[in-house]
Amino acid sequence: MSLVRPPPIPSAPIRHHVPRMQAQEPSHPPSKVQPGKPPFKFATSARCSLGTGTGALATRPIGRGELLLAEQPLVIQHADQPRNSHSIFTALCIHPTVAQEAYLSLPNAFLRNNDASNVDALVGIFNTNCLPLAPVTPCPVPLLSSSPSTNPEQAHGVFLTLSKFNTSCHPNASLTWDQTRNVMSVHAIDTISPGDEITICYGQPLFAVCAERREYLMRLKGFWCMCRSCTLQGEESKASDRRRAELCRLFKAIPFLGHDAPAGLRVATQALQTLNAEGLNLYQDSFAYEAYQFCMLLRGPAMHNSIMSRASSTSESYVYTQNAKHWLEHAYQWKVTVSGRESEGAMFFAQLFAQFHDT
Ligand SMILES: [Zn+2]
Repeated sequence: MSLVRPPPIPSAPIRHHVPRMQAQEPSHPPSKVQPGKPPFKFATSARCSLGTGTGALATRPIGRGELLLAEQPLVIQHADQPRNSHSIFTALCIHPTVAQEAYLSLPNAFLRNNDASNVDALVGIFNTNCLPLAPVTPCPVPLLSSSPSTNPEQAHGVFLTLSKFNTSCHPNASLTWDQTRNVMSVHAIDTISPGDEITICYGQPLFAVCAERREYLMRLKGFWCMCRSCTLQGEESKASDRRRAELCRLFKAIPFLGHDAPAGLRVATQALQTLNAEGLNLYQDSFAYEAYQFCMLLRGPAMHNSIMSRASSTSESYVYTQNAKHWLEHAYQWKVTVSGRESEGAMFFAQLFAQFHDT
């Protein structure tokens, strides 16, 4: 799984000052799987995000980057197959009775809209509890149907443990799907105190304003989001909406700025500042990688000029190189935090470092 977007297309050389900011860095070193009991338990608490009273509560201090859970889905429904009671029943049949019963015990937010037959229950439970098995776009897209997908190519899976985690539009844990291992991993993306709830994103577009996120979750998941972001009031709510809309605008703009690397770099760093202002830790790696790519686009012609003029190490090309390394390091650290050191994205960023071994 990777959130990395295709690199911008190189363009004509443009000389420009490279903006560099002190972005928020992961403060806790990512750790390996902790042996023993999981660092959470499902319990009732008034602090739970969705008002249901039950959520995954941390049982000890959790550091940023810690792997909390790795789980295989019980039922997968692919995008290219019809999703109905028959397809879900077929997927369930390969599992032992205890797992089938566990599936049927999961909540069904759509039950009130249907009759109570088991046939509809299979689909209702799936749609209530399924999670996307691929990256989702953080920007809002038109909801064309009640299918729990904003991407027609996307598969979804139901997990017996992970699906019980509540969602938040300000999640403190991230999901990474490993297609090869058929495993979804959950990493803490913030420090979490004992008793605090661990929350994930269900696939709602995090760069959408509150009303759009709530509409998405109500239509596709059957509930009204009451997370800490969606329950902000007054000016705080308006400021959050402005930042999310701005993030969406910047996210959409970057792929079209390959011809203008200085502008692209400004947009990417502005997006990182906005992410920090909103307190979102997802997509830090994506924007930092794009900032790195824009620095590399600027570095090429600067290196050429440096060679031609025999400039010193304080030359423009040196500055671009150092900035590119800075943003690549930032992207790597965040990718390790949200997906783990062994993830495809983290290893990709680590390989990119090889080009800087003598700089
Ligand atoms: Zn929310």
